[in-house]
Amino acid sequence: MLRGLRRLNRYERRILEIVKLGGKNARLQQFGFSSKTEEGFRFPIHAIEIGTEKAIRKNPVGIVAGVHGLETIGIRVLLDFLEFILNKRNSGYLADVEKGKVGIIVVPIVNPGGVAKKTRSNPAGVDLMRNSGVEAESAPLLFGGQKFSAKLPYFRGRTLEPESRALYRYVHKYFFSTEDAIMPVLDLHSGFGTVDHVWWPYAGTKRPCVDTQLFEKIANYMQTRLGHTKYRFGPQSETYTTHGDLWDRFYDHFQEKIIAKNENINSRFLPLTLEIGTWSDIKENPSKLFRKRGIFNPAPENKKETIVGYRDFLRDFVLLGKTKLGNWL
Ligand SMILES: [Zn+2]
Repeated sequence: MLRGLRRLNRYERRILEIVKLGGKNARLQQFGFSSKTEEGFRFPIHAIEIGTEKAIRKNPVGIVAGVHGLETIGIRVLLDFLEFILNKRNSGYLADVEKGKVGIIVVPIVNPGGVAKKTRSNPAGVDLMRNSGVEAESAPLLFGGQKFSAKLPYFRGRTLEPESRALYRYVHKYFFSTEDAIMPVLDLHSGFGTVDHVWWPYAGTKRPCVDTQLFEKIANYMQTRLGHTKYRFGPQSETYTTHGDLWDRFYDHFQEKIIAKNENINSRFLPLTLEIGTWSDIKENPSKLFRKRGIFNPAPENKKETIVGYRDFLRDFVLLGKTKLGNWL
């Protein structure tokens, strides 16, 4: 576990530096603890609020990473992005944060125990993106989530894991009480395929979600107007279906608890998953297939370039939080 722990420490040091860099506009919040390791240790799970308190309340945008402990590229992309937009000397400095136009709330490492142990699952052996309890209409036997054993990959667990509950508290606190905002939340993953996918709900069914048209408009705007043509947008189930996707559950809760009670509400909770394609450099670097973390992360020589390559997309993603529902109708 030592190398994984060192890696986790490195990320946490950067998180503290980011909070410092944000000055009065950045606050560190604790959202709970991970499940227990074999040694009986629980890792704290943190969120960072970036922006004025009013913007956090009125125009919140979320970005989370590290749901799967092996997919560290997402954590590094997120930390790099925050350093990029918070540093006044950078070309990416986002003045909208200081001006109170948009509030960004991030959970940089949802599964710190998985990072420390260098596992996809949490310390209890549960795959958090199979853990929500949502039953898919049909899903691949193993990869789609299984209930047999924590010793096999993609274990769904038996109840909501502490990390899943922490993520739910985060979603509930920041995105379930705003009256007039579109609230995009991006979850950073890696490892599937050679292109970058941006998925909207659902993962568990091919039935279109009620916000399909809105998601399509946002996708079109990002691709055509802003030139993010390398991203392939669509519902997740178009690529594959899984049981237990947490965003399926959170999205449906928003529909049931917020939209159903107030049809005129102008708020929309829009969870998206960015799946960073990391297989594209396998041809140049076949040894990566034999390294445990290989397929989930780009080869080292491409890493810096890969990480920096997401700054503009994330910056434009965050700026979606400034728009109102009326802009999209
Ligand atoms: Zn993942």
